[in-house]
Amino acid sequence: MSTPVSTLPEEFLPRDTADVVRTVRDSRKSTKPLIIRGGERPDEELAPPEQGAVLSMRRMNRVQVVDADARTVRVQAGARLSDIDRTLGAHGLGLPIVGDHRDITAGGFAAVGGLSTASHRYGMFSDNVVELEYVDQDGRFGTCGRNHHTERFHRILGGGGRTGIITALTLEVRETDKDRTWLTTDAHRFLDFDTFVEQAFKEIQSPGESMLQVGRWVDTAPLKVSRPVGTGHVQLGTVRFGQWSSLYPTQPNLSLRARREVGARARKSLGAIASSASGRAGMPVRNAAAGALMFAPKVLTLRDAEYLADTVISSSERGPAYRISVFAPLSTYPRVFHGLHDLFSGHRERTGCFTVISALTYGVRSRYLRELDNEDHGFITFTCRLRPAALPSELLRDIVSGIDEICRTERARRYDPTD
Ligand SMILES: Cc1cc2nc3c(=O)[nH]c(=O)nc-3n(C[C@H](O)[C@H](O)[C@H](O)COP(=O)(O)OP(=O)(O)OC[C@H]3O[C@@H](n4cnc5c(N)ncnc54)[C@H](O)[C@@H]3O)c2cc1C
Repeated sequence: MSTPVSTLPEEFLPRDTADVVRTVRDSRKSTKPLIIRGGERPDEELAPPEQGAVLSMRRMNRVQVVDADARTVRVQAGARLSDIDRTLGAHGLGLPIVGDHRDITAGGFAAVGGLSTASHRYGMFSDNVVELEYVDQDGRFGTCGRNHHTERFHRILGGGGRTGIITALTLEVRETDKDRTWLTTDAHRFLDFDTFVEQAFKEIQSPGESMLQVGRWVDTAPLKVSRPVGTGHVQLGTVRFGQWSSLYPTQPNLSLRARREVGARARKSLGAIASSASGRAGMPVRNAAAGALMFAPKVLTLRDAEYLADTVISSSERGPAYRISVFAPLSTYPRVFHGLHDLFSGHRERTGCFTVISALTYGVRSRYLRELDNEDHGFITFTCRLRPAALPSELLRDIVSGIDEICRTERARRYDPTD
């Protein structure tokens, strides 16, 4: 094939669009599919060669043009969001939506939609794409955007690489200084799920001036630990806990700066401890580190906040899980949240298939979703830790049909381009 090949078997590393065109055309002769990847993810394995050849965009990583007047930036698809943001920072600009780890690429994020805790203000990452350049499955090159070939534009954004390979993007940016924008957290804590959902609903509907917002809920299975008390034993029960955090701009003073320093150092140490606690035995430590994220720090910069998860621990280090994400229209948001919660806790009670069930939620004001549903949405994602490591297929079918039923009756949309 025409493209430079990395040391991995069947991995193609194009340097420009012409290279992508050649690779796609050449690979049409192969029976195996071409798997598109954004960048390098150290915590993920590449698809095994028998699944197909990999085309990785990681060498197409240039930030090409910053247009400060138009507030746009043009980048190659393999440019990492953290690198784009650093370049924009020199112009007093920044990306409105970035993912939760530093290696996410512009093409990879646009291909899944892309959300963050700023989505209640700025929608999805893909809402901020003005125009893109792509190569289709037949190796043809083209461009599309908000104002031309709009149907194709929407098919490629969120298409998970199956509707075209994004080779370059023009993105809307905004004026900001992420290292000097200080935020303070207004946190509400809950022991009861109903009140947590009520609060989340209220905050998503009326976020006020909050720059970031996120609600987290965690519900452990009854711990199989009993402690001797008197002549008997007491079974330690379920831990249920939620927190809603809204982060507002604040003026930094010396004490806030010192507090931020201490917090940043503590998170770094926690991250180091978590990643050195390997294997099954280290799981409780890694879960504890992840749990510490529930407590959004009182004060931090916008940049700290955007990569908070990355400084502590990545989700894949916490063992096998079943994950589901949906966009719930605001008119049905509480019902969707309760429905999914009841579905997962019901299955856990009956079969013991899940241990910890956790949920994350925030608002999404997406131009694209609004066009479809004529209303704003709440994003809800459930992560259910598995016991054993995989769900039996019958149980999985039951769970999926339960989710589909909730989505159908409440007009919720699944967020999973791999579907
Ligand atoms: C369904 C899903 C949703 C996610 N949502 C979020 C989120 O909202 N916020 C967040 O922080 N993290 C999210 N993640 C996790 C992860 O951060 C994203 O998948 C992110 O897009 C990974 O970026 P990457 O550049 O490493 O792309 P990869 O992980 O390599 O690819 C992601 C997807 O995009 C396709 N793809 C990659 N590059 C291109 C390209 N140039 N052209 C066309 N298709 C391409 C791939 O085939 C794959 O389907 C999500 C993951 C998944 C699977």
